[in-house]
Amino acid sequence: MYFKRIDLHGFKSFAEPVSIEFHEGITCIVGPNGSGKSNISDAIRWVLGEQSPKMLRGGKMEEIIFAGTASRKSRGMAEVTLVIDNSTGILPIDYAEVAITRRMYRSGESEYSINNNQCRLRDIRELIMDTGIGVDGYSLIGQGKIADIVSNKPESRREIFEEAAGIVK
Ligand code: ATP
Repeated sequence: MYFKRIDLHGFKSFAEPVSIEFHEGITCIVGPNGSGKSNISDAIRWVLGEQSPKMLRGGKMEEIIFAGTASRKSRGMAEVTLVIDNSTGILPIDYAEVAITRRMYRSGESEYSINNNQCRLRDIRELIMDTGIGVDGYSLIGQGKIADIVSNKPESRREIFEEAAGIVK
């Protein structure tokens, strides 16, 4: 299982539709300070169901929608789709490729879908549970997170190990 592609539209600094292809192995994203590298990992976190604006480096969830610049209008909606290779069948769904989409309007409401079928956040959570890619897992490690893990309470550390071992469910 690996991420094949992420499509961003209206998410943070991605005003226009942008598609980033990943390949098996390591992908590095390089760019100057403030160019939007972390916004990409925020988008992965967000599409997988993150509910905490703080985890997305913001104050309010609405801040993830493109806010506009001097030369570009703001957007009314943010949409992110993450395409995951499931040829090994690790996700409990009968598709070799799984596209998870989250869309949010300024009203704050989020819509989720799996392969274009609208679903609940809970369905996304269940789909990725015990794979380690969830927002409560250990795969999405941002700046400062390592220190967090090391200095965490034993119970929180245990949650990370349980997710890694695939025994949460
Ligand atoms: P660094 O290397 O300093 O960590 P980075 O390349 O990871 O930087 P990000 O933190 O991902 O950069 O991007 C920050 C940029 O995204 C800032 O310029 C900020 O203005 C822009 N940005 C964040 N949210 C929005 C939004 N809602 N609308 C428009 N721009 C946004």
